[in-house]
Amino acid sequence: MECNFFQLYFLIGTEQCLWGISPHPLLDLNYFKDQGYRKMIILTEPVPLPLAEYLLRLAQEEENSWWKMVKKKLGFSSSSQEAYLEKRLVKLQKELRKRGLPLELSPREFIVGQSMPDNLENLLQEAQEILQGRILFASEAERALKERGFSSNGEKQKIIHWLSLAKKANWQRGIGQDGQCQRCGGKKLEAKKCWWGEGLECLYCPQCATMGQCRLCSMLYSFPSLSKGGQTEVTMKMNFSLTPGQERASKALEEFLDKEEQECLLWAVCGAGKTEVVYGAIRKALTQGQSVLLAIPRQEVVRELFPRLRETFPQTKLAALYGGSGEKYGAAQLVIATTHQALRFYQNFPLVILDEVDAYPYRENVMLQYGVLRASCGKTIYLTATPEKKMLKLPTITISARHHGFPLPEPELAVLPLPKGEEIKEKGLPQSVLDFLEESVEKDRCQVFIFLPTI
Ligand SMILES: [Zn+2]
Ligand SMILES: [Zn+2]
Repeated sequence: MECNFFQLYFLIGTEQCLWGISPHPLLDLNYFKDQGYRKMIILTEPVPLPLAEYLLRLAQEEENSWWKMVKKKLGFSSSSQEAYLEKRLVKLQKELRKRGLPLELSPREFIVGQSMPDNLENLLQEAQEILQGRILFASEAERALKERGFSSNGEKQKIIHWLSLAKKANWQRGIGQDGQCQRCGGKKLEAKKCWWGEGLECLYCPQCATMGQCRLCSMLYSFPSLSKGGQTEVTMKMNFSLTPGQERASKALEEFLDKEEQECLLWAVCGAGKTEVVYGAIRKALTQGQSVLLAIPRQEVVRELFPRLRETFPQTKLAALYGGSGEKYGAAQLVIATTHQALRFYQNFPLVILDEVDAYPYRENVMLQYGVLRASCGKTIYLTATPEKKMLKLPTITISARHHGFPLPEPELAVLPLPKGEEIKEKGLPQSVLDFLEESVEKDRCQVFIFLPTI
């Protein structure tokens, strides 16, 4: 699906020359014309990204020694550059044959680049505002622009690429040099037939494949966050009050936001109401104009929590992102997302809260940790009821009682013999069991959990 094709080019300028690869070389020409380049020689048909990168490396080898020679002997003229290019091409073609790559270099000269719309600056600004803080495939970035009503319909691809030329976005291959998936951090790659044809295979990362395959030949754009506005008024409505234990923890989390430490752990027993405890920290971050990500491993919890957060922060722009949620690229100050959806963010949130750190699939899954860390550009709060040992090394805030103030009950084990098989149908439950149940439920008002070895 996400194969990206690039062309190798050589740019000739008045004082310099430049090798490059691009999915839209004539846009590059347009861009570089303002920087003293006047002519582009496109050398290949569109070829898959890894092959284009390989060609670029081959072309650039010897570049440095050539520079010294040219400057010394020939001076820097257009003809010396073209003579150089001719020589390099012969060598490159030889290298390609030697490596068995069936690719003919076919130089074509261009002086006029692809035109850009007149209101380019406005469009760039608009696209940057929409895409900031994300890491996306080109097609996803296009979809994001569409979903958010980008004003120029036909120019999306061009604008996205122009952002990268102007260094307002970066791009990288889906699989890094080190063989690691650049989207989710996965290291176990699988071979896959792709554009290489017979005998050669491409690689993709199965770990994040549910979100669209990230391949060796995919191109990932990352869009840095724009600086956000300052102080904002934030309304927070809570129709309950915190217990003293919750209150203490809530204060401690707010103080954590002012400290130097980047991470902290909120360790709260089951039912201690840890979500309510982070509201204060969320409000504080929002008040300072920061956006907040609340990442939760399980989709049903995201769906359940979303309306509660909307009630608590009625004036804040919220987005809920999970597999199958209609909106995927919404802009919001407070984003509540499954940890998978966090994989599409890039250094976007000064505050990330990761709930249920211990819950499946987070604990086993390095992918989500990778995603959440990349989504953050500041502080991370981990929430858990059952922390792993290594988590306890973090500065830790604890709540040991549940919200009604009673400690977590300690279960008592009672073993009572039951008659076997048919006998129980005839006689019913023995008196000892009935007495026990009555005593527990009626008198002690306990909950009883009955475990039977067979049905
Ligand atoms: Zn991956
Ligand atoms: Zn491929």
